[in-house]
Amino acid sequence: MRRSLVVGNWKMNGNRGKSLGLLGDILAGLGEGAKADVGVCPPFVYLPEVGEALTGSSVLLGSQNVADQDEGAFTGEVSALMLKEFGCQLAIVGHSERRLIYGESSALVAARYAKALQHGLIPILCIGETLEERESERTFDVVGEQLDAVLHTAGVASLAKAVIAYEPVWAIGTGRTASTEQAQEVHSWIRARIAKLDANISESLQILYGGSVKPDNAAALFSMPDIDGGLIGGASLDANSFLKICHSA
Ligand code: PEP
Repeated sequence: MRRSLVVGNWKMNGNRGKSLGLLGDILAGLGEGAKADVGVCPPFVYLPEVGEALTGSSVLLGSQNVADQDEGAFTGEVSALMLKEFGCQLAIVGHSERRLIYGESSALVAARYAKALQHGLIPILCIGETLEERESERTFDVVGEQLDAVLHTAGVASLAKAVIAYEPVWAIGTGRTASTEQAQEVHSWIRARIAKLDANISESLQILYGGSVKPDNAAALFSMPDIDGGLIGGASLDANSFLKICHSA
């Protein structure tokens, strides 16, 4: 039985005070015995303080990216070793905003994924197609290529310690959510593809859905057999909405 996981991606929003305030409201509202595991991914600069505020809590701390190198002349990058120093447990890699706005290739994403794993961070590998790719019926080609890049670099066994987030680009921040059937179709396709390589890993792999998850659509999405929780952008910036989503999982 897979546990559910709900992760908030705060992106480049808020400030120091708002980040700590948001976290405080989330911690107060989550209470004991939440059924799902919960994580938050604040901007890099707030990781130390958010991490400190999470002391003693079961909420997981995550970064929004991770370097593909350990150290050196890589301006603007933050290594997995540095993230571990501040208590990070998760690292998002391959978010569509990184792939599409900053031109990160699947090969670079795979190298980031491998570095996260090497140093004991759980990578949340984001994969998903654009609207144009969906409309030209290339969804499975695109998602397959993004997945294969990681499988070739790190092998299927690496997925035992990783999470996948299926995030159709056309649903991110647009208010347009994939229908439960559309999301389930891709999630089950991903799981089946991995099952061909390793049935046990496929069965235990958490596959999150991301793309305009809100309190009013979360329960239906999370009720699908291959959807194991969500990666939440906009709605994770509002404690009440995020808490409702967490409680739906
Ligand atoms: C995201 O950016 O990962 C995301 C899912 O955003 P939103 O929930 O705002 O669509």
